[in-house]
This record gives sequence, structure tokens and C-alpha cells, in this order.
Amino acid sequence: MLNEHGFGKEGTGLELDLVYNPLGFHLPPSQEDLEQDYKRQLKKHFDIAFNNLYTITNLPISRFLESLVKAGKEQEYMDLLVNSFNPAAVGGVMCRNTLSVRWDGKLYDCDFNQMLEIGTDSNVPQYIGEFDKEALNNRNIQIDQHCFGCTAGAGSSCQGSLT
Ligand code: SF4
Repeated sequence: MLNEHGFGKEGTGLELDLVYNPLGFHLPPSQEDLEQDYKRQLKKHFDIAFNNLYTITNLPISRFLESLVKAGKEQEYMDLLVNSFNPAAVGGVMCRNTLSVRWDGKLYDCDFNQMLEIGTDSNVPQYIGEFDKEALNNRNIQIDQHCFGCTAGAGSSCQGSLT
């Protein structure tokens, strides 16, 4: 239906993007290769077109962490993330150019930190009403072990892979 209205069609300017999360306890495959595969298969089987596919790594928090613990794979998955650390991805992690804002205006470095209730550094504005671009641009980002999910392999953000 979206395709019929022009979304995902070349030249319309109307974007239709897909997001891919791995189903198992592994890193996403190459975003470029996967996008080509999805384009080919969705066209062939369903005549569906789209613009971009973004791969996102599962971070070891919330429901995904619960499933890791249930399967006894928590340590294995953390080892995978740590051993796949890619320094080239650090410059592009979304907390460096984006803030997450809760319904009541409370600020977080990203939506993962928001899910974990880790607010912005106490030395900078805590709510959108106190917004201070200079202070927030220079803030210390609150990092923890889940951040290895953003820097593993090709890197991961809400705009897909980073390298
Ligand atoms: S999880 Fe960590 S590295 Fe990733 S965006 Fe949030 S604060 Fe940055």
C-alpha cells in the first residue's frame, strides 16, 4: 500500500526504510549485502520496493538481556561484543550527535540509556526546558557495558551501521 502511494519508489522523494535486528545472539551481517538481498527477495516474492535497510545490533539490556540470561548466553554475547570492538565506530555513535527526550522532558544520552534510567551527566541540563547547546555538546556521556553493542563490528546506531 505504501508503494502504491509512492513510498519506497525511485524519484518520488518519499522514503520507505526497513530496520533489521538479528534474531539470534549474533551481530548483524553486512548492511549493504543484506539490503541487496532484501531488495531482491521482497521484489521477487511480494513486488515490494524500499529505499534503505538499516542493521541494528541488539544491546544487552531489557528483553534481549532477559533472553540472553534465559539461554545462558549472557557472557558469550558480551564477549562477542567486546572482542568485536571497532574503534572506527566510536566517532559515529548516536549519543555524540543526538539526545533522547522522555515524555516529561527528561534528557538522556540515547534511548538505551533512557530504558536503563541513566540520565545525562549531573553537571549538564537534565530537562529539555533547561536546554543549553554548549553544555550538552561538551557533556560527558554516561557509558556502561551495553555501549559495546554500539561499537561492535560495523557499529550500530538508529541510522544503521557506522563504518
Ligand atoms: S548505548 Fe552507549 S555508546 Fe550507544 S548511543 Fe547509548 S551511550 Fe552512546
